[in-house]
Amino acid sequence: MQYRIGIDLGGTAIKAGIVDETYQVICSHQQPTVEGFELVVADMAETARIAAEKAGLRLDDFPSVGVGSPSCINPYTGLLVFSNNTNWRNMPLKQELEKYIPVPVFIENDANCAVVGEMLAGAAKGYRHVLMLTLGTGVGGGLIINGRLFSGGDGMGAELGHTPLVACGEPCTCGISGCLEAYASVTALIRQTEKAMSDNPESRMHAHAVAHGGVSGRTAFDCAREGDAVAKRVVDQYCTYLAAGIGGFINVFRPEIVLLGGGLSGAGDTLLEPVRKKVEQFVFAHDIIGAPPIERAALGNAAGTIGAAYLGDI
Ligand SMILES: [Zn+2]
Repeated sequence: MQYRIGIDLGGTAIKAGIVDETYQVICSHQQPTVEGFELVVADMAETARIAAEKAGLRLDDFPSVGVGSPSCINPYTGLLVFSNNTNWRNMPLKQELEKYIPVPVFIENDANCAVVGEMLAGAAKGYRHVLMLTLGTGVGGGLIINGRLFSGGDGMGAELGHTPLVACGEPCTCGISGCLEAYASVTALIRQTEKAMSDNPESRMHAHAVAHGGVSGRTAFDCAREGDAVAKRVVDQYCTYLAAGIGGFINVFRPEIVLLGGGLSGAGDTLLEPVRKKVEQFVFAHDIIGAPPIERAALGNAAGTIGAAYLGDI
């Protein structure tokens, strides 16, 4: 059995997982992310070593070690170019890790790792052209073209969430206005939900928010399922934004499948069915060639670990 190892460098925790040949994460280890680049690098190697030890392995038993992080990563130079969480710029992550780890280290953005994981073992298994959006605090994007991860020039490619959706629209976290992320992230959905609640005091979303400790990405979707008219309008508008973004990507890349991951994909058919229907109006030559399937990602957080673990292969 050939095992792989993937490390997730997050803002609050470093997690390492051991993946077997059937793409199961058989054991893992995690510890909190501390401050300071040198300490974090040492902790990443230590976390990986302990995870390996739990599987009865050593780091030199692996062909490579893969790292995914919610940061701007240049996989070609091995630099962590920019991290919002830590404010790091141009840190030599690969080179420093290889001082501790006796095999080649590969690094990538976490959304890119997730789409690799889904292609190898999840909802995109068997597909060679895959587009994935992760709907969370932001909108992450990952793209597989011809069976290979598309990283773009300097590895900065596939920032699908920062595609302009509305010219000069809502401000985005990236400094640009009108990005897809500013309309289709959970943060944006919460803003849209709060605006509708404030305009419509009769909506049952108020009671839902009180019962669930505040407004969340679930508020509008839960209340829409229960028949609340205001919530239905919020969901309808949100799905239109998302479908417009997806339609644009379909027209550029024509993926064989589009996957939606992240916390909001848990809304399941309440999200997927209207998006599938609405995307038709944005897809080029839809009446002739149709639109590719839009499905929920299957692996959850494991996708990033599995994808990172196999970065050396794709
Ligand atoms: Zn943006």
